[in-house]
Amino acid sequence: MQKNSLYWFTQDLRIHDNAALEAAQQSDSLVCIYIVEPSWFSAQRWQHASMGPHRWNFLQECLSDLAQSLHSLGQRLHVYYGDPEVIVPRLCQTYAINHLLCMRRAGSDEQAALSRIKRQLPTVKLERVDQYTLFNSNELPLPLAQWPMQYTQFRQHAEVCDIKPASAAPSSLPPMPALFALPSIERPSWLPAPTVNQNEFKGGESPARQHLDEYFKGALPANYKKVRNEIDGWGNSSKFSPWLNQGCVSPRQVKAMIANYEQAITQNESTHWLFVELLWREYFQWLHHRIGATLFHFKGLADSPPLTSYYAERFQKWCHGETPYRLVNACAKELKATGYLSNRGRQIMASCLVNELSVDWRYGAAWFEHQLIDYDVAVNWGNWQYIAGVGVDPRGGRHFNIEKQTSLYDADGRYQSNWQADVGGHLDSVDAADWPIFEPVPLE
Ligand SMILES: Cc1cc2nc3c(=O)[nH]c(=O)nc-3n(C[C@H](O)[C@H](O)[C@H](O)COP(=O)(O)OP(=O)(O)OC[C@H]3O[C@@H](n4cnc5c(N)ncnc54)[C@H](O)[C@@H]3O)c2cc1C
Repeated sequence: MQKNSLYWFTQDLRIHDNAALEAAQQSDSLVCIYIVEPSWFSAQRWQHASMGPHRWNFLQECLSDLAQSLHSLGQRLHVYYGDPEVIVPRLCQTYAINHLLCMRRAGSDEQAALSRIKRQLPTVKLERVDQYTLFNSNELPLPLAQWPMQYTQFRQHAEVCDIKPASAAPSSLPPMPALFALPSIERPSWLPAPTVNQNEFKGGESPARQHLDEYFKGALPANYKKVRNEIDGWGNSSKFSPWLNQGCVSPRQVKAMIANYEQAITQNESTHWLFVELLWREYFQWLHHRIGATLFHFKGLADSPPLTSYYAERFQKWCHGETPYRLVNACAKELKATGYLSNRGRQIMASCLVNELSVDWRYGAAWFEHQLIDYDVAVNWGNWQYIAGVGVDPRGGRHFNIEKQTSLYDADGRYQSNWQADVGGHLDSVDAADWPIFEPVPLE
């Protein structure tokens, strides 16, 4: 029987170390697609649309880079706009597809959608490929049934496990089916207008490989642990996350580059720490696989919900950098302007929303989801739960002292000045009974 494959690209926008493409090589015909979904651009729960302008710009660059790579292999990337639950079954039926390939994703919504697609296609073989993570689902350091365990437990097991080596790109791919009708190139009205890129990240596998090569050329990996906590500075952390999370590069490729660096240049605590951070990413992926939609629950994994609520005014001030805390305002401004924020900055912003402002953490997580160029569902919501004290943190939440963080990470105030951060006025303009709160007027 003819093997007609459909490869649905999602967060695996690359041709190197791509096991799905390798599997597709055995097909008689192949259709490569990517689907841009209208739901990404409309506000869902917690007020904000998932896809903000920074990630959308980056994603479009990733897609055009992938299209060029596939073209060089004699294939094409077809970008569709609409609902995958309509598009994938329609393509399978029209082109007698009997093999559907896609990456295994941790997102519970994405998994549910894929199950519904599969139910519409009982005769199509669905192959889910592990290529967003270091480990394959059937080779985890510990069985998924034993989760959620603490990160340190996972790390101890994971650090000593073998990791599959990264593979090369295929040299050719099967042809498209005869008479394949190209998707409409009309731009749907729900797509946001293009905006100008305001950050240093360029999307795509080629820029990703270039960035990794640069990073591993010099001394940065050998000093990583000493500077990774800094609040500002391009070289202080690897900046791999946007490319990792669209799959322009795989974590196995990063792991292989760390190993090469350790062999060729130097091996120390810092080079190992980069791997340890990759394990955090890994940990959150499998945690989400295990706990599903609990990742979005107010109470998370805790026994009782946090003592926070929703204050519209406080939340708006936090988003736009108008709180009484100058450091938090600088972070908020950087995030909004560029779509990127250091890990330290993310921790400070998240802790402030939950602890100083007493706002429901899920609104903050949704704002990050909208803004972050490197948004990843498992990592973002997992970190937020952790800081809000409803996640896997054995210490039950984190409260960062903003004054102390300022003296540790921005003592000379340079970061705050760069972002023109001011100290906002009162957090609330009305009290609990809706009476206006006035600034105190000094007595004569
Ligand atoms: C509230 C909050 C929300 C976050 N949301 C996201 C998100 O949506 N996407 C995302 O990739 N990271 C998220 N992080 C984790 C972390 O801040 C970023 O991964 C990191 O800042 C990315 O910069 P980098 O690539 O230079 O990191 P590096 O320090 O160079 O780390 C290397 C890689 O390790 C992984 N990593 C590092 N720190 C963490 C961490 N705390 N948790 C999980 N993985 C980690 C990332 O893949 C990163 O690219 C969040 C952290 C917090 C506190």
